[in-house]
Amino acid sequence: MQISILDYLENSASRFPEKIVFSEEKKQISYGQLEKTAKAVGSSIIKTAQGVYKRPIVVFLDKGIDVLISFMGIVYSGNFYTPIDVHMPVSRINKILETLQPEMMITDEEHLHLVKETAFAKHVLLFQEAAQAEILTEQLENIRERMTDTDLLYVLFTSGSTGTPKGVTICHKSVIDYTDYITDKFDITEKEIFGNQAPFYFDNSILDIYCTLKAGATMHIIPKELFGQPVLLLEYLKNQRINIIFWVPSALIMVSKLKAFRNVDISETLRKVLFCGEVMPNKQLNIWRKYLPHVLYANLYGPTEITDACTCYVVDRKFEDNEPLPIGTPMGNTGILVLNEGDELVKGDEIGELCVRGTCLSPGYYNNPEKTREAFIQNPLNKAYLEWIYRTGDLVRYNEYGELIYLSRKDFQIKHMGHRIELGEIENAVSSMEGMSSCCCLYDEKRSKIVLFIEEDLEKETIINGIKNLVPDYMYPGKVIKLDKLPMNANGKTDRVALKQYL
Ligand code: AMP
Repeated sequence: MQISILDYLENSASRFPEKIVFSEEKKQISYGQLEKTAKAVGSSIIKTAQGVYKRPIVVFLDKGIDVLISFMGIVYSGNFYTPIDVHMPVSRINKILETLQPEMMITDEEHLHLVKETAFAKHVLLFQEAAQAEILTEQLENIRERMTDTDLLYVLFTSGSTGTPKGVTICHKSVIDYTDYITDKFDITEKEIFGNQAPFYFDNSILDIYCTLKAGATMHIIPKELFGQPVLLLEYLKNQRINIIFWVPSALIMVSKLKAFRNVDISETLRKVLFCGEVMPNKQLNIWRKYLPHVLYANLYGPTEITDACTCYVVDRKFEDNEPLPIGTPMGNTGILVLNEGDELVKGDEIGELCVRGTCLSPGYYNNPEKTREAFIQNPLNKAYLEWIYRTGDLVRYNEYGELIYLSRKDFQIKHMGHRIELGEIENAVSSMEGMSSCCCLYDEKRSKIVLFIEEDLEKETIINGIKNLVPDYMYPGKVIKLDKLPMNANGKTDRVALKQYL
């Protein structure tokens, strides 16, 4: 019986102790070393924060192998992890810390000064020291015996409409369920060489990390800069002999738009291209398919709250450039309910909200019962016993093949360059600027631009300066439009529909 993800690591470490599991630009680590170092980190946590169990621990390091060792170490210590992006403004980090109330932050000398700028006042562990700690075998075993698969593995924070990020909790059982399904479905074995794009604070990385660990595969952390240089990126994939990637569509589109395939041929190595996180336009996918016709392509769909993805479509037919690509059918052990406004199952091609049930469901937002109650509700079709479903806020319909087609959002959540953003979080930040009255944000899908409407005579640069300590740079408006007065609807709210004419 598998209770925690540590079984993946230990099984692969006993099968392939010398094999490289993770690599980054100047460093790599074998399965054997990973297990040993993670146990050292776990022991150091136990020693530093005695009695701390089933509590959140933050990892505050640059993206790299040390983050992954820390994740495993935290699990060994009986706690759960939250990675925080070191580039995030301190005020937003503080909001996360306030919600999470972590017991400890793992960082390094380079980022220690930033930790000191935050409101965090508990244990700080330096990664380099923790990695060399003595392994407390007996204590690690005791902790292991007490674990259940409903213990949390991680809490990942996503943008919140009120300006405070929400912490999505996920249990071991959900990641095990997902990893087992994906490795089976896509025949992922020790031969796989992953090219990781997703940041570790974004849930797409779950597939890369845990499928690698389970299968005894290898994962290369692709340097971030390469995602702005498609030819170098493809050369990297070729040189590292990467045969599987799971990226956000924005990253795939960057390659196809700039026609990088004309310069580098990766047809000998790349075998599987999976993507998830936002709409993949067929126009761009068709370019990939033209240059790499023998590759398996799959569109995965899902929010963080249901453990990365809950539906999947393996591309098996031709599509015109202007046709939508289906998000497919439910993954194994996952139930999808498409509910209309009366909370009944839709009929035919009626539009409804995609709702999810199954082991994949998060047990809710950390320290936030109100938001949890809004999104995680009793299955309206089941009056007999407790059964939670998650309301995604995504509107979908079935096509003639019985596949799901994603249409749009019910609310003001957007996807911009693969990032999940609540427009309300940007509006909140802008409204907090001195002298600012009303403002409103819309997303211009066609031009992939966040557009901010204001009544003040302020330049885009001034706005960005005013919010740069509040939100990450991917939330900055791409265009600012000044109006004498923002239009109002009959309810006295900003009329977003009327504003659309200015896009
Ligand atoms: P995140 O929690 O960051 O993974 O974002 C989840 C949201 O991204 C979903 O609720 C959808 O709105 C959108 N999304 C994820 N995957 C897809 C997909 N394959 N096609 C269209 N939208 C997607």
